[in-house]
Amino acid sequence: MKLANLSDEVVTNEAGHLTIGGVDALKLIAKYGSPLIVYDVTKIKNQINHFKQAFIEAGVPYRVTYASKAFSAVAMYQLITNEGLGCDVVSGGELVAALKGGMPAERIEFHGNNKLPIELEMAVDAKIGCIVVDNFQEIAYLDKILKEKNTKIAVVLRVAPGIEAETHKYISTGQENSKFGFDVHSGQAKKALKMLLDNPRMNVVGVHCHIGSQIFAAKGFVMAVDKMVSLLKEWNDEFDFSAKLLNLGGGFGARYVDSDEPLPAEDFVEQIIAEVKKKITEANLVFPEIWIEPGRSLAAEAGSTLYTVGSRKDVEGVCHFVAVDGGMGDNIRPALYQAKYDAILANKPNALKEQIVTVVGKYCESGDILVKDALLPITHSGDILAIPSTGAYGYTMASNYNRNPRPAVVFCENGEDKLVIRRETYEDLLSYDIGL
Ligand SMILES: *Cc1c(COP(=O)(O)O)cnc(C)c1O
Repeated sequence: MKLANLSDEVVTNEAGHLTIGGVDALKLIAKYGSPLIVYDVTKIKNQINHFKQAFIEAGVPYRVTYASKAFSAVAMYQLITNEGLGCDVVSGGELVAALKGGMPAERIEFHGNNKLPIELEMAVDAKIGCIVVDNFQEIAYLDKILKEKNTKIAVVLRVAPGIEAETHKYISTGQENSKFGFDVHSGQAKKALKMLLDNPRMNVVGVHCHIGSQIFAAKGFVMAVDKMVSLLKEWNDEFDFSAKLLNLGGGFGARYVDSDEPLPAEDFVEQIIAEVKKKITEANLVFPEIWIEPGRSLAAEAGSTLYTVGSRKDVEGVCHFVAVDGGMGDNIRPALYQAKYDAILANKPNALKEQIVTVVGKYCESGDILVKDALLPITHSGDILAIPSTGAYGYTMASNYNRNPRPAVVFCENGEDKLVIRRETYEDLLSYDIGL
């Protein structure tokens, strides 16, 4: 399937302004201030349905678990809960937010390579659905907590299957030297499984792997299925272990710029299901529930950040800098992993694009670049610039560097807008400072 250009998807109104979820971008800035993160809620819902539909059509048991580190807002947990999804959390803070968003504890799974004893205790007390056990220390901590509280919990064994997805090295996680999960090759995974099976307080419900992020093709997932099912076969033979669920993680690619062409959600799911069916049948195992954990693919493309253009610096024949009122504090991804974005002039998206500029932020770092080469109309101070596809790992990675307050977040749907996270104030920023 050939995707349209991001710029072809720009929707404008009679005033010629960019609209998001049916709401005029300039009206949003006038109402809520700048910079502003805006979600088109319909896009999130559509993407959820694409994932779910493929499972429903195949008639296999499944669970879609939203990886909430992509965008962990109470409003997002509420939306995800209403859509029938589960979620994964990776910290006590995300757990508290998920519960506040009304996510049933039973649908929450807990991930992380260094879960703190206090976080494990919170998870046990909240009676969450399962803990994805990552390392030996965690098994010891969890065992102690369960003994003290005289209770049980479901656990999933996270393995590093030794598969490298073709993506940036900071976001690839399935390889043997990853910090996440039990290594298969060295026998650690098997040793961990045995410990869990021998522990009467831990009910091992399945296995998990996550091969990386921003993956565009199904091949890595298909390889992961092969590896995981062969492990399940081995462990079934040796320990009579039967997995109720097979969690294949997330990492389904999102479209940040025109040249990004990730497989559509349903195609990923179809190919995964086909491989699971084939391998499970060959291995003669009980068919497990298939779990996936999309994060960015649910949130990224639905979000856009609106900025106001401020100063310019033109060095003739060298480059043109256009500075906006946000930057690395609200979107660290370009500085952190050379992530690429496009920019749209929200007040006149259809004007002739005649200049290549570097969109920079207001932070005191030369690396504070949002878009390296943005093709834009000539911009002026006061213009509103939209950067699309900032809905994942934007707000959740935001900081207060340079004492800049974090922006507000608004959900838009069918022409209605709703503030879901208010803008930070200077008072908020100083509220932790005790002073001498
Ligand atoms: C980060 C993460 C995800 C989600 O990754 P995306 O690229 O946002 O889809 C899913 N599962 C695990 C275990 C993760 O660490």
